[in-house]
Parts: sequence; structure tokens; C-alpha cells
Amino acid sequence: MLNHTKHYINGEWVDSTGSDTIEVINPATEEVIGKISSGTEEDVNQAVQAAKEAFPSFSQMPVDDRVKLLENIAKEYENRKDDLVKIMTEELGSPITKSEQIHYQMGLAHFKQAAEELKTFQFTEERDNSYIIKEPIGVSGLITPWNFPTNQISTKLASALAAGSTLVVKPASQTPFAAIIIAEIFDKVGVPKGVFNLVNGSGSVVGEAISSHPDIDFVSFTGSGAVGSSIMKNAAEDIKNVSLELGGKSPLVILKDADVKEAARTALTQIATNTGQVCAAATRVIVPEEMHKDFIQAMKELVTEFPVGDPQDKNTFTGPQVSEEQWKTVQSYIKKGEEEGATLAIGGPGRPDGIDKGFFSKITVFTNVQNDMTIAQEEIFGPVMSVITYKVLDEAIEIANDTVYGLAGYIVGNDKEELKKVASSIRAGQIRINNSKSDLSAPFGGFKQSGIGREWGNYGIEEFMEPKAIMGMPSN
Ligand code: NAP
Repeated sequence: MLNHTKHYINGEWVDSTGSDTIEVINPATEEVIGKISSGTEEDVNQAVQAAKEAFPSFSQMPVDDRVKLLENIAKEYENRKDDLVKIMTEELGSPITKSEQIHYQMGLAHFKQAAEELKTFQFTEERDNSYIIKEPIGVSGLITPWNFPTNQISTKLASALAAGSTLVVKPASQTPFAAIIIAEIFDKVGVPKGVFNLVNGSGSVVGEAISSHPDIDFVSFTGSGAVGSSIMKNAAEDIKNVSLELGGKSPLVILKDADVKEAARTALTQIATNTGQVCAAATRVIVPEEMHKDFIQAMKELVTEFPVGDPQDKNTFTGPQVSEEQWKTVQSYIKKGEEEGATLAIGGPGRPDGIDKGFFSKITVFTNVQNDMTIAQEEIFGPVMSVITYKVLDEAIEIANDTVYGLAGYIVGNDKEELKKVASSIRAGQIRINNSKSDLSAPFGGFKQSGIGREWGNYGIEEFMEPKAIMGMPSN
């Protein structure tokens, strides 16, 4: 049992001012694996005070020293690889190979990327009659979700440190242990006291205390739209800056000249990765009418490439949903899809055959989906795909954009003009063509209800800064 009932405040592990705890459950076994403190408003106050006191000095830390700090964090993160991989397999239920290849690696990459960005970051700019300085934004509150425990937290932490801002972080209470290891890493490398503070606990107490705290200048939040909206309301009280990385219902547009098998594999990978618990996952697949039959057939043949099961098994591709609540949500959407008249082509309700414990769903594909059905409009956050057909490309683009979200878009095909047309017409923050690999120097974030602001690379660092314009500065 992992009992981590302390918070990390002002460079030390300290007891909570409250005595309540939150249990953490392994979603594959349904067993309790540990507990954390359910932090209080007073814990947040202490953490904010520490971050406030640390700000004047940390914001002046020379850039070279901040680069070194980020590089040292990356090195120590690498030293903790086994611990991070193990804990994300247990607390999130991520298959062990994916815990390493995706979760561990992405977490590491953000620290490395931020160090590189910082080496060339333009902190000043001269214009006709003004001198512009980018300054750290101040005390920042970071609130993160459970679906990518290291990635979500490290992109924010790396950007905040690179910018020279100090912070208080609250990780998701379902996956707090990866964040605790990151706090241990920060402690080991000697991040100056008060710069980084971690308060564990529920969103309704610790998260609320962060978003409404008068001494927090900026809240960087990743999570659901409903919570994002409430954070924005709290922040409006004292005109705090916010960055919101929210949900998605991203389209995958398959062009008529696409290879059917490749398209089918791409589509399945989108919903099977991280058990469909990916904000940017393509969950609406928009297929040419004449390709539909072959496309569904190809997915039926390929679905065995995505085994669902024990996260400790190296051959597993897809683990359980993170929690019973999430499992029930996914199941209710599968039921809703059937009720609304979509046709089940693959999977369906219940656990996969042979599994009788854990929050496992089947990889599920619906066809005959109309884009106004609930399963095509709402974020399910599970391994569930809606396949929608189109006759002409303009119709495919219209369907792709017919959503309140705009986080990402995907295209499979070869015709250059069509690829360009679709890429420029989808209203979303990131477009990926033919399984292109990720680029952490490029901005990540959403149009429409997928959010406000951008993370990753220099865009992420800018979020933790304010520009100041100075006019009339004597030249010598
Ligand atoms: P969530 O319920 O919104 O929770 C996210 C975080 O907010 C958690 O730390 C949660 O704490 C906290 N929280 C809950 N209520 C709060 C409140 N009233 N005030 C302040 N904080 C509060 O989201 P989730 O279920 O963890 O994550 C799934 C969602 O995140 C999906 O919609 C997904 O698309 C989105 N997401 C977006 C991105 C992106 O980059 N755009 C990336 C990943 C995920 P507790 O854990 O204690 O509830």
C-alpha cells in the first residue's frame, strides 16, 4: 500500500491541515493501491504563500540556470523511469509497454523540449519606439487530469519553470502517485524552495481553492469542459488569466484514394490507445460511401491487433477505463448508440469475453451513425468509434466541423490538393496527416469549446509570461 498523505510545500513534505484521505484504486484489479491526503483550503493557502514568496527571486534566476534546472530534472526523471512506468500501469491501468513508450516518454520530452526552447527564447524585442520584455506571469495554479499523468503535468511544469513563474499543482485524485514521484524528482534536483508546491486532494476543495485564490495570477487547467467553465467563472472574480485544455470529438477524414487497410488501422489505433481516454482522439471517422463496406471489413480483421486485457501483460494494447464511474459512462454511451439506431459493427456493451473483473470495455465501432446522434456529438472518453459516410469532400468537411469541439483533426489519403483543402478547412488546433509523428515544439490546444490557449514548445512558455512594453527608454 502506498500511503502518501503529505503535501510538498515550500521545499518540504508536510502534513495536511486536514485528516481526510482519498483512496486510489487500480482499475484493472479494482483493488485499493494506496491513499493520499484530501487537502484543504488552508493547505492551498500555505502553498500559494510559499509560491508568492519564492517568485521575486525565481523570476530573476538567469536563463542559463533555468536551462540547467530543466536538464537536471530531465536526468533525474530518467533515473526514476522504472518507478514511473510501474505506477502509471497501476494507477491508470495503462498497459506496461504504453506506460513506457507513451506516458513516460512524453513526460520526459516536455522537460527536454522546454530546456531547448529556453536556449533561444526571445525575452525582449525592440520596435520603433518601444522595448518589449516578456516577464513571468507570477504565481500559477496548475490543475491536471488523470488520462496522461506525467504528460499533462510535465508540459505545464516545464513551461512554468522555463518562464520563471512559481506554482502550485493539483494532480487528478485518481492518478496522484506519478505526480508525487515528479515532486520527489524536483526535491532531489534542488528546485528552489517555494517554486514548486504540490497539494493533493479533490477538485471541489483543492481545485476550487486554487481557481479562486486572490494571490494566484494564472490558472492552467486541463480537463473537462464543465470544470473548465467553472474555473473560468472563479477566475473572472479577480480577472485571473486562464488557459483551458479541454475535451474533443475529433474527426478522421478518409480520402477516396486512401489505402483501406491503413485507414482502418489508423482509426482503430485512435480509439484503442489509452483506452480511448485521449482528448485529441479521432472518434468520428468520416469515410467515403463507396469505401464503407471494405473499411468496416478491414477493421473487423485488424481489431485482433489491439488486445484488451491485463496492463501487466506486455502484449496488451488496451487497458481498462480509469474508474468504475468512467466505465459506466462508456457503457451508457454504447447503450445510447444502440437506442438511437446506430449499428454495432464491432464490440458492444459489457466487458470483453473472458474478463470478469476490472473496468474493461470492448473496442466498439458503430456504423450508420448520423452526426447529430449523441455518440457523434459528445465526448465518450472510451474505445468507441462512430463511422459516418460522405459522398463528396465538401460534405466530409462539413461533418468534420459540425461539433462544438475543435481540438484536432486527422486525414488519411494521398491527393495533395485534397489533403491541403481538408487540413485548412478543419477548425481545430492540430491536424495530423497519415499518422505523422508528434512535434512537441508545435502548439497544442483547441479551437471552440476545446479550450483557450496553447501548450508545448515556446507557445507553452508564453502562456506563463506577460508582455510589458516600455516606451522612451534612454538608449544609454
Ligand atoms: P475533470 O473532471 O475536469 O478533472 C480534471 C482536474 O480538475 C482534476 O484534477 C480534478 O480533480 C479537477 N477538478 C474537478 N472539479 C474541479 C473544480 N470544481 N475546480 C477545480 N478543479 C476541479 O476531467 P477528467 O475527467 O480528469 O479528465 C478528462 C477530461 O479532460 C476530458 O474531457 C478530456 O478531453 C480532457 N482533457 C483535455 C486535454 C487537452 O489537452 N485538451 C488533455 C487531457 C484531457 P479530481 O481528480 O479530484 O476530480
